[in-house]
This record gives sequence, structure tokens and C-alpha cells, in this order.
Amino acid sequence: MLAKTTVAVLGATGSIGRATLDVLESLGGPWRAVGLSAHSRLPELVELSQRFSPDLVVAACPESAGRFDFTSLPAGVKRLIGPEGLIALAELPEVDTVVAAVVGSAGLASSLAAARQGKRLALANKEALVVAGSLLTHALKRSGGELLPVDSEHSAIFQALQAGRSREVARVVLTASGGPFRTWTAGQIAKATVDDALAHPTWQMGRKITIDSATMMNKALEVIEARWLFDLPAEKIQVVVHPQSIIHSMVEFVDGSVVAQLSPPDMRLPIQYALTYPDRIPSPCPKMDWTGAMSWDLEPVDIERFPALSLGWEVAERGGSCGAVVNAANEAAVELFLQGEIKFPEIVAGCRRVLEHHNFDPSPELGELMRLDGWAREEITKWAALC
Ligand code: NAD
Ligand code: MG
Repeated sequence: MLAKTTVAVLGATGSIGRATLDVLESLGGPWRAVGLSAHSRLPELVELSQRFSPDLVVAACPESAGRFDFTSLPAGVKRLIGPEGLIALAELPEVDTVVAAVVGSAGLASSLAAARQGKRLALANKEALVVAGSLLTHALKRSGGELLPVDSEHSAIFQALQAGRSREVARVVLTASGGPFRTWTAGQIAKATVDDALAHPTWQMGRKITIDSATMMNKALEVIEARWLFDLPAEKIQVVVHPQSIIHSMVEFVDGSVVAQLSPPDMRLPIQYALTYPDRIPSPCPKMDWTGAMSWDLEPVDIERFPALSLGWEVAERGGSCGAVVNAANEAAVELFLQGEIKFPEIVAGCRRVLEHHNFDPSPELGELMRLDGWAREEITKWAALC
């Protein structure tokens, strides 16, 4: 198979986007960032354009673009403004691989466009699968496109699955760091501040996923993501807490063998594997040091203190419109928490409430999913005003 070396990086100014650009730089040779997008951090987009000389940049937020002076954008770099630009970039004929690293359901339309065009979709934007897993996986099947996970747990499972056949899989086990509140009591968690929740012990990430890790909604979203990526029923997806973030996840086969993928925590590794698959290429990521003693902990999850987790299995099982509703409610609630409008436990309580109040649709189309996304955000805002 010819290497797919022309890459569009959607969300290039974010934590995953920048790590992807580091990977492309270290791969060198034919590897190239053909297009880059940003939302409102446009000075950074220009700086990245000077460094990577893409053909096209997209400024997704029209208001920020309207106020911005693009004169230092290198000559010859085309630019598009607005969310439609993301779709155009994902569909560019010269792009082999789309790295979907936009945060939230704002990344869905461009991920879907890449899937429909038969691209390799290197997916960090788990929210796209949570909202529209059925539509995305169908689109990829029809177009012959490939879905490569970037999320470290799902990359680990993708790698471990290569040790057996899909009918031989008994279950997958997602590991979770446990976030900053792993050892906190429910009473302490109830009083958690924004700074407490943003202090992740093992990963440096964008603000939204960092809060999701603190509530463990991130793991709930990952259960749903695994359901769609690997076509597994909810009961075959388990979660275990592993604070060191070395074992990235595991697959248990029917004979009882467990195959895991391990490495020091560094997102550049799963990103590079999604780009170079099926090849493995030397990487600058730190390697395990097997010369010293070490120990790793594994602990059961605590659903009482982290009720977000039960939403993950519930939504993975029910499917339909549930993913869109929970995801949008969570995005809105996280934003309200970051603005100091609601308390930490209200993020998950609000998601549960909105899920229970929505009119379930077993097989919604894209338009209905988008309508429900807007509805869930409004419901959370109204509910928060009463809190
Ligand atoms: P981030 O906040 O650091 O970056 C988000 C990127 O999306 C930025 O480039 C931003 O400009 C862009 N963006 C934000 N809102 C947008 C909008 N409305 N329209 C278009 N673009 C928009 O986030 P991140 O931590 O890089 O996470 C990106 C995605 O990857 C998320 O879905 C997250 O769950 C997933 N992920 C991240 C990590 C990690 O280590 N950071 C690990 C696994 C999965
Ligand atoms: Mg993850």
C-alpha cells in the first residue's frame, strides 16, 4: 500500500493539532500538511502557515476572521472563512488523510465530509462518533474510507485487536487515569473549583477534554466511541482505572489471553500510528525504561463518585439520538462550569436530566441530530439559570 502522506489538520492550533504538526515535521520526507484550520486563534494559524507552508488555511470563526488582518499570511496560501471552509478542506482531492482534531460536535460535519470522500480519517474528535456514530461508520463503509483512532485508548485497542480475529474478542478494557479527583471524596468533589478540575495528573490537553477527564465524562464518551469504532455491544466494553497512564487499553480474547499496548503517555505516538498505519516508523516519543523497578496500579471504577460513567454504557446501549443529546448537554455544561455559572457536580446532573427529558429517536438523520444538539444546549442553559 502506498503511504498516505498529504494531510489536512482540522483544529491545527489545539493540543492534538500541534502534536500532529510535530509528528509531520519529524516524519519529514513526503509528509506534508496540505491544509490547516483554526477557530479564533488566528495569529497562531498564520505562524503555523509560515512554518508549514500549507496550500489552504481555514479560519472557522467568521467573527474572528472579520476582525483579523491576514497580511502576514504567506503569499500563495489560499484562505477560506467559516465552518463550510472546514468541509472544503476535508474534501480537497489532494488530501489523503484528514486529522479531525476540532473539539466538540463542531467537528462533525467535516469528519462526515472526509468519510464520504473515502479519505483516511484520523479521528481525535470523539464527539463526532458519539453524536453520529451510525452515520459516520455507514459513510465510511460506502466510500471505502478508513477510520483510524487517535484517542490513545482506542489506538491501543486497534493495535491489540491485530492479535486475533474480531469473533475471538471477549471484551475490551479501556483504561482511565482517574483524573485529578481519583482520590477525592464525594464531598470534596462537590466543592471542586475550575483550577482543581483543570489540573490533570498525566495529560496536557485542551480545556474541554480536561474537564471531561475530571468528571470522567471523557471515559463515558470513550465507551460510546469504542462501541462505534469496533462495533461492540456496550456489555463488552469495560473500564478500569490506571493512574500511571502507561497501559493505554487492552483486549481480552475468548481464550482468556489479554493483549495490551503500553508506552509512556505521549499523544504523538497514536497520532503517528494513525498516519503511518500499517507501517511503524521510529518516533521521537519517550520510550519505556525497563532498567528500574516500577509498579502500575489498576483499580475498579467508582460510579458513585463518577456518575458520568453510567451515562456512557447507557448511551452506548440505546444509541439513536442519545449520543447527540448527552454530548451537547455536556459541551454546554462544561462551558457553564468554566464560566463559574454552575458547580462541578451539576455538569453530569444536567446531562442526565436532559437525556431523560428528550424525545428518543432510534435512527435520526443528520438534520435531526443537529436540531437535538441545539435543543440540549438550550435545555442546559435554562436549567442552569434555575440552579
Ligand atoms: P483544543 O481545545 O486544544 O483544540 C481544539 C481545536 O479545535 C483548536 O484548533 C480550535 O481552534 C478548534 N476549534 C474549537 N472550536 C471550534 C469550532 N467551533 N469550529 C472549528 N474549530 C474549532 O482541544 P484538544 O485537546 O486538541 O482536543 C481536540 C479533540 O481531540 C477533542 O475532541 C478531544 O476530545 C480529542 N482528544 C484530545 C486528546 C488530547 O490529548 N488533547 C486526547 C484524545 C482525544
Ligand atoms: Mg482518551
